[in-house]
Amino acid sequence: MNKITMKVPFVDFNSQHQPIKTQLYQAIHTVLEQGDFILGQALADFESAFAAASGTAYGVGVASGTDAIALGLQACNIGAGDEVILPANTFIATLIGVLRTGAKPVLVDCDPKTALIDLEAAARAITSQTKAIIPVHLYGQMVSPQQLLDFAKTYKLLIFEDAAQAHLAEREGYRAGSVGIAAAFSFYPSKNLGAFGDGGMLLTRDLDVAQKMVRLRNYGASQKYFHTESGTNSRLDTLQAAVLLEKLPYLPQWNSDRLSIAQQYDSELAPLASAGIIPMQNHSGTGHVYHLYVIKVDDACLLERQQIQDKLNADGIQTGIHYPIPCHLQPAFTYLGYQPGDFPQAEKLAKQILSLPMYPGLSSSQIKEVVAAIASITLTSSNTENSSSTPVSSIVG
Ligand SMILES: *Cc1c(COP(=O)(O)O)cnc(C)c1O
Repeated sequence: MNKITMKVPFVDFNSQHQPIKTQLYQAIHTVLEQGDFILGQALADFESAFAAASGTAYGVGVASGTDAIALGLQACNIGAGDEVILPANTFIATLIGVLRTGAKPVLVDCDPKTALIDLEAAARAITSQTKAIIPVHLYGQMVSPQQLLDFAKTYKLLIFEDAAQAHLAEREGYRAGSVGIAAAFSFYPSKNLGAFGDGGMLLTRDLDVAQKMVRLRNYGASQKYFHTESGTNSRLDTLQAAVLLEKLPYLPQWNSDRLSIAQQYDSELAPLASAGIIPMQNHSGTGHVYHLYVIKVDDACLLERQQIQDKLNADGIQTGIHYPIPCHLQPAFTYLGYQPGDFPQAEKLAKQILSLPMYPGLSSSQIKEVVAAIASITLTSSNTENSSSTPVSSIVG
């Protein structure tokens, strides 16, 4: 079933863009008139505005979140000979970013209640080569800043945040992007703050890191045609920055809409806990920005996650899986030497997680429809528990 015929799509941009369409057109028009397409005014304005909103000093716009990670780590002087700790259950770009610097990625397991990196596992992975840890603020929830800062201090490591899913998230008085030396953001269209294409940014409190990043994204030039190091071409387009600058003031409202949606899901899904439907835990309170709303289909559920996803799809409800294969089991990275069983929590989660529709503008009645569909799928099958000779599929199929 395609997106058009979905009763409840996974993501819908209309409620974000329709109300501010005139403003967005105007912003695009201004760039056209000014013609400053590369490293233009709107980029500088958006870099300062996003850094300030995130509670840090400098922003450097780049072509994608992946480049923000790869170039950002380089700007922090991380490279060959260094080890960087990251969770096994992240989007593949976190791993690719580390590999691009020449550093050795060291994967660790996660906390199954939140899917966030397990800092005790991280502590066990430290060697004399460990230079940095990348906490991924997965699904929009920050890894505890206090625990991270204690950890980094104890082991003398840099913290480089992957905040691609956590624009303006907060926890313990810190905003995403203000905890470590630097942080990478993505403005891929479906992120909490999305461009009309690809985009990314490095935030940092460190002037040297910011200045090095400015060079790295622009062929390593310290001034025009004078190259003090080798860089690449990775700039956030002025056009994308103009769109993002226009959207930024609405982000707090969009994030709070996401939180309300999550709260409704939490309360309406609560009765399904005994049927094996368990929402991810929120330890960040109102600072969780719910890029994704993720449930676990755990062992108590008589249906497999795949069966639930298929049935929801047939009901016109689109869901996602973030992510179905942990990084260490991806075919491209077998050379890193990891095996199935190395990260049991991440591997189990990969089989159990399901992301429900989540976007500003998702209505209360749509949420009810999603929950009712999950209830009817899972409760119908758990009612058949005592008649185990009857295949579940023949009853609910
Ligand atoms: C989206 C994402 C990225 C990569 O960002 P792109 O802009 O798509 O390159 C990196 N890490 C995480 C956790 C993400 O969700």
